[in-house]
Amino acid sequence: MDLGTVMKLSVDFDDTYTKDPLLWDAFIKNAMSRGHTVYCITARSTEPYDTDEVYDSIGLLVGRDNCIFTAGVSKRRFAWEKKIKIDVWIDDSPEMIMDGRVTMDGLWIPY
Ligand SMILES: [Mg+2]
Repeated sequence: MDLGTVMKLSVDFDDTYTKDPLLWDAFIKNAMSRGHTVYCITARSTEPYDTDEVYDSIGLLVGRDNCIFTAGVSKRRFAWEKKIKIDVWIDDSPEMIMDGRVTMDGLWIPY
């Protein structure tokens, strides 16, 4: 066991945080009080109609700077390019972490 390790955690927004905000709020508060850093990394766009709901809910806990909008790009790649290495991903669509929904030439994959 590796007790006492500080982690960077990512909590997805749609169909993860939104399924039970009270559960995740308690989890996030607990995680942060133990020294962990929590991000909300979502495949939503950076348009206000996508960001406002995130900033006004989970963003109030993790902070606006820790809300990251990949616009469909692989979450792992997007975070890595921002020099953020997430240790633990919490996500209802794990394929979005690796693959995203956008191909290398920018095509959106609708699934
Ligand atoms: Mg999701």
